[in-house]
This record gives sequence, structure tokens and C-alpha cells, in this order.
Amino acid sequence: MTDTRPVKLKPGDTIGILGGGQLGRMLAMSAARLGLRCQVFSPDPDSPAFDVVLNATCAEYADVEALEMFANDVDIITYEFENVPAAAAMVLDARRPVLPNRKVLETTQDRLAEKDFVTRLGIGTAAYADVTSVASLREAIVRIGLPAVLKTRRFGYDGKGQAIIRQGDDIARIWTSLGTKQAILEAFVPFEREISVIAARSAAGQVECFDVTENEHRDHILKVSRAPASIPDALAEEARSIAGKIANALDYVGVLAVEMFVLANGTGPKVLVNEIAPRVHNSGHWTLDGASVSQFEQHIRAIAGWPLGKPVRHGEVVTMTNLIGDEINDYERWLTAPGATIHIYGKGAPRPGRKMGHVTEVKPTTSK
Ligand code: AMP
Repeated sequence: MTDTRPVKLKPGDTIGILGGGQLGRMLAMSAARLGLRCQVFSPDPDSPAFDVVLNATCAEYADVEALEMFANDVDIITYEFENVPAAAAMVLDARRPVLPNRKVLETTQDRLAEKDFVTRLGIGTAAYADVTSVASLREAIVRIGLPAVLKTRRFGYDGKGQAIIRQGDDIARIWTSLGTKQAILEAFVPFEREISVIAARSAAGQVECFDVTENEHRDHILKVSRAPASIPDALAEEARSIAGKIANALDYVGVLAVEMFVLANGTGPKVLVNEIAPRVHNSGHWTLDGASVSQFEQHIRAIAGWPLGKPVRHGEVVTMTNLIGDEINDYERWLTAPGATIHIYGKGAPRPGRKMGHVTEVKPTTSK
């Protein structure tokens, strides 16, 4: 990095965002509220984030010249997705501060590196093994048992690049269909519920976590998030402290999400870390309408070198429902639903599984 001085933006300065999806769009909208400008870099001409910024760079992540020009136009750079190519991050980092730091990407782009990192911190994960061949997969199955989940080490999302292996399955066929030689096998976790913690960390080391969120998936895609999660206070505190520990160990600046499994009553640990997302996260969308400061604003504040907010939830319960695929066609229903706030991402055609928008509903605090 050329400049190691702490970042301190002022209104009117420009943040570069890598990635043009709905997360980049909502980041740019939150930045605008704080008087900060954004420039979005994305290879997709239909990027929904392009619609809300004045300047956009539509180029491939391998286009060094475009990356350099983009860096020259902005004061700092952040990203809305974890698969930023390492070479692109290096080009940018040589010119402008990239936040969260580049090392974070190395750890979180690879499920094996991520699980090793979490384990080194003394935090529980599902039992896992490195798998590079059908022979090592068979060895891993002996060690970990079945059922188990085989995952590609890189580029998996929304259940893609994963297969559950059960007793009697054709191991060789499952291995071949995964289509990679870099994978991990994880023990199947018989979780009671899935939760996530959205945490923000400033360069000065201040950490602020939102209320723990409970997440329901449908067809491997997040469908509903509820805050707060229905878990005991002590467990929520443990979950938040795990997220804080991870953020501190990564020397993280910005917002990250830690997805966790809550286990049913037993003798072992009550919570296991599934995945770290080094960015704002779908399970934190409720904070836009349901908290005094949103995850997007916290991220912008953190990378701008501004103080973090102390997020206070607005209602007793906040739910966020994703509008997936054709569900967006029903948007008029949500426009008139009492208490509902709709967000439409402005994407083109709805495709099955495509996140097109979301709805937040805040149940006000009941007076006792
Ligand atoms: P991931 O891409 O790792 O976030 O996994 C997507 C979803 O698959 C999770 O939210 C869980 O619902 C499920 N899943 C992933 N790993 C496991 C596991 N080891 N045991 C049980 N369910 C899992």
C-alpha cells in the first residue's frame, strides 16, 4: 500500500465500490445520505448500482488500465462481494486504501483458509477436512462420518458448489460432478436454527454489533431474517463476541457478517461458525428500516474513518423477506401493506432464484 495514514473522508469525497449488485446500490445510497459520493466498478452493464451513482466504470476486473483510472477517480476503495480477484485488489491497493484490507479477501475467499483461521482463534466449526481427490474424499468420510457436506473451496454461494453426501451415495460420481479438485468435506450439522451477526469495526478498533439475526433459507437462498433471534441472551452475547473476535483478528475495517449454526441442547458447543462474509450481508437488510443506523451506513462510516453508530432496533421484532424471482411482480401488494417497507433493486428480468428486492416489517414495541 502506498499510504498507510488513517483514512478520514469528508463530505464530498468519493468512495469506489467494486461490484454493482444490490449491495453496492444500497451502500451508495447510504453514502449519499452522508454527503459522500460513490463510483461503482462492475463488468456488468446492467448493474443495479450504476443507477444510483453519477460515475460508473464498466470494465472487466482484469482490465488494469480501467482499474488504475478508477483508483485515480476515488479516495478509497471498498467491495460488495468477496470474490474480488487478488490481482485486481493488488493493482488498486497500490494506489488507494482498499478497505477491508486485502488479507481479508485471501482468508474468506477460500473455505479451507477460512475454517483454519476460525479454528486457530479457538472458535468452533463443523468438523472439516481438505479434499483433493476421490481417494482423499473417501478418507475424509471415514474420519468425519456421514451425512456430510462437500463444498468447493472457492466461488460457492447460495448452495452452489455444494453436495450433501449420505450413506449409500455414489462417492465417485458426487466428486466428479463437483467439478473441482479443491474442496472441503464438512460434517453435517444438525442445527436447531441458523443465525448471523453483522458487526462493524472501525480502524481504531471500535466494534459495534447489530442484534443477532435468525435466518430461514428456502432452496439454499435466504428467504426470511428475523431480529432479534429467538435465542437466550447469553448465547446472543457469545455470538456477538465471536464476531468481534473475528473482526479484531482480521484487523477488519467495515462491516462483516458471520453466519453460525445454533445446536440443539447437548454437551458440546452451542454455536458453530459456518461462514464469514467480508461485506454487508442480506441478513442485515432489516437494519435499513429497523434500526437507527443501517449496516450500509455503518460500513460507509467505518471505511470513511468516521465514528460508528450505536445501533438501536426500532421495534420489538423486525422481519425482512426477500422477493425472489417472480415474487417481485407482486410489488404493488407491498406498497399498500400496513407497516411494510419495500425495496426494489431495479434489476432486469426476474429469474428463478434471483434476488429482486426485499420487504421489511417492523413490529413496534408493545407497551407493558
Ligand atoms: P454456505 O454456502 O456454507 O453458507 O451454506 C449454505 C447453507 O447450506 C447454509 O446456510 C446451511 O443451511 C446449509 N449448510 C451448509 N453447511 C452445512 C453443514 N455443515 N451442515 C448442515 N447444513 C449446512
